[in-house]
Amino acid sequence: MTIDELKESLLAAPKNGYTKLSAQERENMETYCKGYAAFMDACKTEREATAWTVAAAENHGFKALVPGMKLNPGDKVYFNNRGKSIVLAVMGSESLNNGANICAAHVDSPRIDIKPNPLYEDSEIAYLKTHYYGGVKKYQWPTIALALHGVIYRKDGSVVTVTIGEDDSDPILVISDLLPHLAADQMQKTASQVIAGEQLNVIMGSEPLEGEGSDLVKLHIMKLLNEKYGIIESDFLSAELTLVPAGKCREVGLDRSLLGAYGHDDRVCAYAEIVPLLTMGTPKHTAVCILADKEEIGSVGISGMQSYYFETFMQDLCDATGASLNRCLENSFCLSADVSNAFDPNFPETCDKRNNSQLNYGVAICKYTGSRGKGGASDASAEAMGHVRTTLDNANVTWQIATLGKVDQGGGGTVAAYMANRNIVTVDAGVPVLCMHAPMEIVSKYDCYMTMKACEAIYLA
Ligand code: MN
Ligand code: MN
Repeated sequence: MTIDELKESLLAAPKNGYTKLSAQERENMETYCKGYAAFMDACKTEREATAWTVAAAENHGFKALVPGMKLNPGDKVYFNNRGKSIVLAVMGSESLNNGANICAAHVDSPRIDIKPNPLYEDSEIAYLKTHYYGGVKKYQWPTIALALHGVIYRKDGSVVTVTIGEDDSDPILVISDLLPHLAADQMQKTASQVIAGEQLNVIMGSEPLEGEGSDLVKLHIMKLLNEKYGIIESDFLSAELTLVPAGKCREVGLDRSLLGAYGHDDRVCAYAEIVPLLTMGTPKHTAVCILADKEEIGSVGISGMQSYYFETFMQDLCDATGASLNRCLENSFCLSADVSNAFDPNFPETCDKRNNSQLNYGVAICKYTGSRGKGGASDASAEAMGHVRTTLDNANVTWQIATLGKVDQGGGGTVAAYMANRNIVTVDAGVPVLCMHAPMEIVSKYDCYMTMKACEAIYLA
């Protein structure tokens, strides 16, 4: 053999996905990404993503799972976990004793949450106090347009939904930063201290009510909130309000090859899981789609992936078909669908380029996340990686290899370890993202589309 022949037969030669996209595939990709952008515009919190998914599922014949119901192959069911996470299933032709094919993503994203006693006035400006949620660079959040999303439980037990700042006629909300002219001391601080957590106070207004007294700007804001939502100040305690970047998912670049939005991590994988599930026929193995909450703060809490709600759902499926939960979990496979860090040429020193994901090279498969000697990673086996690789190859899905940065540079986790703890073979894979956890994250349309095809292939494996 010549050197060229040897190279071709022995060496891996990944290619930019756009160089091998057929006209038909490009059209399918654009259609898929239009749907994804609309999903992103409608869903900026886990609650909004859960509500959207319930509606989409019901439109496609899914029914709420009722304990005790009988299930047959092809039946489609879902469990809405208290409005904050959701798990769906399409029943397979084989027994659940032979396992399910699971895709697990999360629908919460880093953001700025409102404190339980937030509203105050200082120097005749009204503010809400906040506590950030998840891993954010705090300095990225001042001086950008923010929108307020969430729900408030009122004293009488009724609930009101809040969205301020998304409609073009809405006001937006903003956190201030210091002018550079007076920032001599601030500029000497490290990036984690340039903006302190207690400085992330969002401006609510500045016009005092007419009359005598103190705190008339605060009172004005409370009056406006009362008129619009029927709330009083103590109702903030029983609220979940959060600040997220205002605005829509946009195409990025003159060639429109990329998408910029808040919260690609991890709604880009959530959407990739939902789309193929909605129109699926009867799979061989039961297909299960998880959209979890609280991943960004450790998968804790009743709606996080460590919660027992997942076992309860799977037990109900097993009861409905006469299968054993333990056999089911033991024989199941889970794709932990979460984003990876796309290689960023502006920061090449943070990554091992040979083992890092890259924009436009397809769904990124990650054997381990973790940090410091793989700590906290589920570290998938050769067999598990082989299953994914073969399944994707057989379905013509373009995949690439991902690790999370250079050894000892940092690290991170996903829901993978919690799924593996349940005796489920689990592998991480997902969409590479530039500037992950920033108010504006960037992904490639091609990688979004390939991740959807990867989820479909895993469900049908
Ligand atoms: Mn994630
Ligand atoms: Mn994240």
